[in-house]
Amino acid sequence: MAAKTPITVAYGDGIGPEIMKATLRVLEAAGAALEIETIDIGEKVYLRGISTGIEDSSWESLMRTKVFLKSPITTPFGGGYKSLNVTTRKTLGLFANVRPCVSYYPFVATRFPKMDVVIIRENEEDLYAGIEHRQTRQVYQCLKLISQPGSEKIIRYAFEYARNNKRKKVTCFVKDNIMKMTDGIFHEIFNQVATEYPEIQADSMIIDIGTARLADTPEIFDVIVTSNLYGDIISDVAAQISGSVGIGGSANIGDRCAMFEAIHGSAPTIAGQDIANPSGLLLSAISMLVHINQPAVAGKIHNAWLKTLEDGIHTADIFKANSSSKLVGTQAFADAVIERLGQVPANMPEVTYAENVNRINPTEWKLSQNFEEKKLVGVDVFLDYSSGPAEELGNKLSQTAIDSLKLVVVSNRGVKVWPNGLPETFCTDHWRCRFEAKDKEAGITNIEVMNQLASIHAAGFEFIKTENLYYFSGKPGYSLAQGQ
Ligand code: NAD
Repeated sequence: MAAKTPITVAYGDGIGPEIMKATLRVLEAAGAALEIETIDIGEKVYLRGISTGIEDSSWESLMRTKVFLKSPITTPFGGGYKSLNVTTRKTLGLFANVRPCVSYYPFVATRFPKMDVVIIRENEEDLYAGIEHRQTRQVYQCLKLISQPGSEKIIRYAFEYARNNKRKKVTCFVKDNIMKMTDGIFHEIFNQVATEYPEIQADSMIIDIGTARLADTPEIFDVIVTSNLYGDIISDVAAQISGSVGIGGSANIGDRCAMFEAIHGSAPTIAGQDIANPSGLLLSAISMLVHINQPAVAGKIHNAWLKTLEDGIHTADIFKANSSSKLVGTQAFADAVIERLGQVPANMPEVTYAENVNRINPTEWKLSQNFEEKKLVGVDVFLDYSSGPAEELGNKLSQTAIDSLKLVVVSNRGVKVWPNGLPETFCTDHWRCRFEAKDKEAGITNIEVMNQLASIHAAGFEFIKTENLYYFSGKPGYSLAQGQ
């Protein structure tokens, strides 16, 4: 018998305990070599006054085992509770969310019989960095942060995953026709990394048409890699059209730790009734076994599970009177899988996992370094202003420019309104006023930025934030206003 791998298990809330019990029974019957440590998470921890939903002592187990099999939790109503998933992802550095979305036609009803897509979503940055501000009475902002190393890591992970799992194509979803810098760098890095994997086809789509194609013809996709928000949305679209939310599993992978969980929530309305489908958690547990290099047990369980589906033994969420043979509850479903351990599906392809298939070790990657020359060439000063039209603001503000700077454009919600704005442009109380160096070759210093702010303040304007304008290797590191 192989040495047991320690893992941390949390039973969670709602249907969590019953699907975890079913899953662990199958794992044990299949001979998975696991040493299980159990921790408490979720509702009861929140209600003990711990706003993160997890006790400090539980981190100790997670840091030791580095492998987390997690049931869904219920987030209590009312404010002040932090998302346990976001906390876990960030604390453990789980940068990749991997979600296979497969259809099991004709055994699970779906309009897309040939779907077999893996969505790889960046998990740590983008709009989910949680940096939001309200700066004026009318305007709220959320920062979208895309980093070069963050993008390179997730894209490299996607190609490594594709190579190890014998996938043929990786598609990148971006919106770089609009967000030329943030989504632009993601796309550029995708193109660069793709050249290192010549055997894998690489292509890109704009997220809107990509999502439409995914919802309409998912069979054209293989692996999709994308940033956090887009990935969040498309992975739900993909899971929904593949059949049932009850059968989707996911892995969250980091440099050193990994977390495996079903994609669904705690389904409180069906909790405690032995009717929930344990398949989402079971499939997540299978990818955990692959991750900890127990591929034979993983394959054995996966094939028994496929055979159970083929035999028409279904829980209520996927049961169809004309095609299913037996309606079963959570534990009876687990029993049916256990009975079939050692069997393989007759119609659907048999699954085999190779040794070390997911031994992707991001700590060994040498991420690209960037030593570009950087020069300060101006500043965008944002004002809270509602005392007059754009023309008046621009004219008054241009008088405040210090010797080395000039006001070149004022925009409102990204549209140029000064000089030569159009009266039709709707303006809020949030204005971006761009001061550029008269001599960009020479550049300016932060002291000049502060002097400019002092001059604006002295003229009676209220500035609410600034963004420095830089050139990188002689090229602007900022977008132009629409119409500039
Ligand atoms: P949900 O996924 O719990 O339920 C959505 C629907 O799917 C419900 O009709 C439910 O009965 C059904 N369903 C879900 N899992 C099923 C299964 N295994 N078998 C059969 N049917 C299943 O989503 P929700 O209702 O929006 O959220 C309920 C709670 O779960 C909330 O407190 C939410 O915050 C939490 N949640 C937790 C996680 C997590 O821990 N990862 C994820 C999502 C939601």
